[in-house]
Amino acid sequence: MSVFRILALMGCLALLAACSSSEEKTMNHADSTPADCAWTGGDLPVTEELDARLDAYVPTDLDVDLSHLDAAQLAVLEKLVAAAKIMDELFVAQATPCHAELEARLAELPADLQEGARRYFAINYGPWDRRFDREPFIGTWPTPEGANYYPLDLTEAEKARIADPAAGLDGLFTMVRRDAAGELVAKPYSEFYADGLERAAGLLREAAALTENASLRAFLESRAAAFLNDDYYESDMLWMDLDSTVEVTIGPYETYEDGLFGYKAAFEAFVTVTDPEQSERLAVFKNELPWLESRLPIPDEHKNPNRGSESPIRVVDEVYSGGDTRAGIQTIAFNLPNDERVREAKGSKKVLLRNVMNAKFEQILKPLAEALVVPEQVGDLTAESFFLHTLWHEMSHGLGPGKITVDGRETEVRLELKDHYSTLEEAKADAMGEWTIFELVAAGRDYFPENIIREQSATYLAGLFRSVRFGIGEAHGQANAIQFNYLLEKGAIAWHEDTERFSIDTEVFVPAIGEMVKEICMLQAVGDYDGTAAFIEKYAIMPDVLSRALDKLAGIPVDVEPVFTRWDR
Ligand SMILES: [Zn+2]
Repeated sequence: MSVFRILALMGCLALLAACSSSEEKTMNHADSTPADCAWTGGDLPVTEELDARLDAYVPTDLDVDLSHLDAAQLAVLEKLVAAAKIMDELFVAQATPCHAELEARLAELPADLQEGARRYFAINYGPWDRRFDREPFIGTWPTPEGANYYPLDLTEAEKARIADPAAGLDGLFTMVRRDAAGELVAKPYSEFYADGLERAAGLLREAAALTENASLRAFLESRAAAFLNDDYYESDMLWMDLDSTVEVTIGPYETYEDGLFGYKAAFEAFVTVTDPEQSERLAVFKNELPWLESRLPIPDEHKNPNRGSESPIRVVDEVYSGGDTRAGIQTIAFNLPNDERVREAKGSKKVLLRNVMNAKFEQILKPLAEALVVPEQVGDLTAESFFLHTLWHEMSHGLGPGKITVDGRETEVRLELKDHYSTLEEAKADAMGEWTIFELVAAGRDYFPENIIREQSATYLAGLFRSVRFGIGEAHGQANAIQFNYLLEKGAIAWHEDTERFSIDTEVFVPAIGEMVKEICMLQAVGDYDGTAAFIEKYAIMPDVLSRALDKLAGIPVDVEPVFTRWDR
């Protein structure tokens, strides 16, 4: 391929002010005219690793048994899935500038590359690889950091303006575009995506008319209104009160897709059915939270007896997903809404997607353990333990220090630990999740299978590799590296040079997990920023045994690519 062409293209995108004529800006400005997509030209190199990268995602049927639903519930589901598909369309438009033009270019590829490239383009919702820093896996188009939320040709001065709240360009539910004069303006989603949002609102209203569940009806009607007026507060409040077999989480939520500022919310949808048995079991677990808080291995003065009792947890099966959550790595649990006003009034709701978890257990965790864990412990892995780990991880976010006092000043752990907060909090939730189970078992509660400690330990060990594999560049990966290295140091995890496998010693693991919980909670309780930095620096590392182990996992999938045969594409 021509080096000159790549440079010319990149130079143009990076310095678009110099390249773009005023006509281009005029073409770019209005939301009703197509953006200038001339940049989608150029050569079409495809990464040589395409097959290996495709193998990282294993297509997995997530279909759920819906035989217990009645005709009305099935009719509601159909409407909700149709609305979720619109969220998918809208997310495509938010994530990838000139998506249609880029996709059309795939037809130019040689026949033997087409199918794979199309599948990978679909997984990534565009030509930029979500697993590899958004580098293009096809073409040479520079990654649009701010996705399609902002014009591609922002100058530094314009970026500064966007970052200034007074300019009114930082709204959660607005796109930033240029007006006829080339000035930046904020366009509310309800206008910018009027067509899609009106169709989605119509489907939600139709579903509302069909459902016999009052909480679902109220949410759907309110969310339909929000699609048209960008005010999501009331429907977020109603979403907290949902109590229905068929449920949906739908709308603009997370802001990760906006890699430039993190201001703009991305459309997504989870259509789910709840499992009544699991919900009852959860109610029992929730009642244990105050007791567990009282049992934390830290001085009483640092305990918060009133914490964590408010946030509901739901266990559901995912019937369909669309938009943000479906791009790249699949969600197994989420915690919404993000609106602090709702969180203050009602807390937030944690939703665990049990069938997605089970799929990841079968497709990833088990093969990974077969490669890295001593054979006598591989058999101890269970989907139930993987589920319990995730469930108690989420519950544990509501235990331990939150609001704290430092030098007589009332503050929060989050504010004191700043950039290190997420890593330490994720490590805490993982470790405490195991600790809570062991604590309940030790107290004689009969919630768990007979061999729970063995099963939990082996499953936990395999889970560490699964998460570290995503890299230690972000909070979850770091948190898992911390646990691995801490437990290796304590002798709870052992490396067997001869077989190149790991084992976990439950006799050492159970007390070591308690020590880790204590150490982390004390860093949080006193808001020790420097101590946390030192703890992370010591343990969030990739020792030789671990990187060698991860090298052995090359052929094992990294994630599932969801297939919903009943509804899909
Ligand atoms: Zn977490």
